[in-house]
Amino acid sequence: MKIHEYQAKALFRQFGVPVAKSYVVEDPDELGPVGNDLTPGVWVVKAQVHAGGRGKGSVQVDGKVVGKGVQVAPNPKVALDIADSILGGTLHTIQTGDRGKPVSRVLIEQGVDIESEFYLALIVDREHAGISIMASTEGGMEIEEVARTQPEKIHTFTVNPLIGYRSHIGRDLGVEMGLRPDLLVPFSAIVKKLYALFMEKDCSLIEVNPLVVTKQGQWLALDAKVTFDDNALYRNPDLIQLQDLSQEEPSEVEAAEARLSYVSLDGNIGCLVNGAGLAMATMDIIKELGGDPANFLDIGGTATTDNVARSFEIMLKDKVDGIFVNVFGGIVRCDVVARGLVEALGQVKLEIPLVVRLEGNQRDAGLKLLEDSGLPIITAKDMRDGARLIVEACKKPGKGN
Ligand code: GDP
Ligand code: MN
Repeated sequence: MKIHEYQAKALFRQFGVPVAKSYVVEDPDELGPVGNDLTPGVWVVKAQVHAGGRGKGSVQVDGKVVGKGVQVAPNPKVALDIADSILGGTLHTIQTGDRGKPVSRVLIEQGVDIESEFYLALIVDREHAGISIMASTEGGMEIEEVARTQPEKIHTFTVNPLIGYRSHIGRDLGVEMGLRPDLLVPFSAIVKKLYALFMEKDCSLIEVNPLVVTKQGQWLALDAKVTFDDNALYRNPDLIQLQDLSQEEPSEVEAAEARLSYVSLDGNIGCLVNGAGLAMATMDIIKELGGDPANFLDIGGTATTDNVARSFEIMLKDKVDGIFVNVFGGIVRCDVVARGLVEALGQVKLEIPLVVRLEGNQRDAGLKLLEDSGLPIITAKDMRDGARLIVEACKKPGKGN
């Protein structure tokens, strides 16, 4: 589960990680009272959305660009005007997709004189079976870019969660980055506090980009991105109120409500499968045959006619050029899946190719249901055949793959 920067900063404050003074505004009516509190000087106005790249992205209102997602204002008046102009708009960044993200809140944060920008992140690192802490002097840039062009500038330490955090870790990272001696101790303290936050709230990611040192020699987390492990949310139920579904892909929200797992991708072929392993195999084979999955929706191991129908409706709402249903009936019965498909197609007209591969439990009964329905469904004899058929059917003219 993702949260907003202002929410992440509230957690930072709670754990003693330094952040600048700021105000959250949801409604233009609040700008007056907040304005009375803003002290003279520079203020930074930041659109609150679940996506990075806001500094380079632009906010649109009624299709017109009104400004960037992060703007530095020379005085409170300009800050309030900027906040007013972007509230209610839509922010488009390289991370938001075509639809953009609604700007329902802005953070007005006291401006600081930046001396240097750093990068600091903690992640669940499956490869090294621990919590990896990554630090770099190349803050403010996209870390993927740093990893590609100057990998030696990213310093990593993996904490073994069974041993826990040791105070030398932050210091070692600071030394590797070449920090001035007077900055080492406070840096090390920040790393330690973020680790405590990470563990206590069951995070999967904490990213501070940039973590800055001001001209006055103060460390400050200027940006804050925190993601929680969904599977651990039951241990921190108070965190659920931080959820903002208006920031998520509508189809993913709808799927989650129906207890289906749905992942949206960049291609054009929708994949409806049962089981995560089969989802991976389906995507691999589509890719191998030159296609590109748009998503996968896993109906799980106990699909009913109803949730198959629901899955199919969600899938059709996503922009796909074709759908591949790939089901291996074990506990799930193929005839139940087939009945769900027929039911869903009774409600909506199918205007794109649909390839269905059924195997296992009640396969023949399922195929008969599809055939008797008279619907224009292409049936496949196995998984590879199905993938080939859907890739063929979804080939873009002139794309020549
Ligand atoms: P992102 O683009 O979504 O990652 O948003 P950030 O919160 O990282 O802000 C983008 C950039 O704005 C930062 O990298 C800083 O360079 C700049 N910025 C943010 N806050 C301040 C500030 O208080 N003073 C100054 N001068 N720049 C700031
Ligand atoms: Mn940032």
